[in-house]
Amino acid sequence: MQLAQLDHLSTVSRSIVTKEFYTLADLQNWEPIARTCDPPIRLGVFGDPVEHSLSPQMQNAALEKSGLRMRYARFHIVKTDLEAALRLLPTLNFIGANLTVPHKIPALKFLNHVDEAALAIGAVNTVVVKEGELIGFNTDALAISDAIREITAGQAFLSNYTVLLLGAGGAARAIAQECIRVGCPRLFISNRTRERAGQLRDKLMKSNTQTIVSPIGQNAASLRQALEEATLVINAIPLGLRRGDLPLIPREMFGRRHFVYDTIYHPPQTKLLREAEAAGARVANGLSMLLHQGARSFKLWFERDAPIDTMRAAIM
Ligand code: NAP
Repeated sequence: MQLAQLDHLSTVSRSIVTKEFYTLADLQNWEPIARTCDPPIRLGVFGDPVEHSLSPQMQNAALEKSGLRMRYARFHIVKTDLEAALRLLPTLNFIGANLTVPHKIPALKFLNHVDEAALAIGAVNTVVVKEGELIGFNTDALAISDAIREITAGQAFLSNYTVLLLGAGGAARAIAQECIRVGCPRLFISNRTRERAGQLRDKLMKSNTQTIVSPIGQNAASLRQALEEATLVINAIPLGLRRGDLPLIPREMFGRRHFVYDTIYHPPQTKLLREAEAAGARVANGLSMLLHQGARSFKLWFERDAPIDTMRAAIM
């Protein structure tokens, strides 16, 4: 065999061999994976479901552009495996991780430190490993403001809107806190489990806010009433991720005065967005929020600005 061919083979044997997603069992037996992955996996997103996540293609493009020899992967981690998976990160030389549904709230109790803003929100989407410890941050909150500004090309800000927020989970908490911070005139929170919407309102009221916060039911009458006042609807529940999911709000409740932002980006157009658009509303999916929360996570991990144009190109 020619020397050139041997060279080629060794490159192949060390080249990136990454799976669609990894599990806790993989993290517990990481050595064979680490041996076959070059550059090594040192970042990832933990979620359930996680197969839809575009974070790997966005973050891997950023890592490559920045000359950082490492990769970012998906980890299908179920609720009961979260603590064990997080605890393995420092020993496996990870830089950090992102957390998605359903881990943003439960993760708080498994971290060594939580940044003040994330603590106020009550949810973490970014974990940084520093000197063997796990530190939690939240980049979703500022990302929703970034997203609204970007979609409207700087013409509108989150603070301009009366918001109807669907959900009271990890993403919704961050969005609600941001609505309060920027001073939206009014915020309606509609959650399947009504008492969680009430608890979120109570938490938000501790911020001494001007925003009127109203927890409402998730029935047609309550949603219709809120939509008479609300100009921005933000969907922060996973309903729409799966093909058969039906939207909570039917077409006839939407109108041209509404802007509907779905934090879901895969599928790119959920049924909620389709219904809203058919009624003449302005619509946008969650890609812009994904981009900005990811760029802010990158900055936390590497203490340098993310190559945001590269990241945008990788997901758009
Ligand atoms: P989470 O903490 O698990 O919260 C889930 C929320 O959805 C809860 O309010 C829950 O209500 C509600 N919910 C779940 N299934 C429902 C159903 N069938 N009908 C009605 N309500 C339902 O999850 P999360 O981390 O907040 O994520 C929520 C969504 O936001 C996900 O789709 C995620 O992909 C998306 N997200 C996108 C971005 C982005 O960058 N684009 C960022 C963050 C999140 P209960 O309280 O009643 O259980």
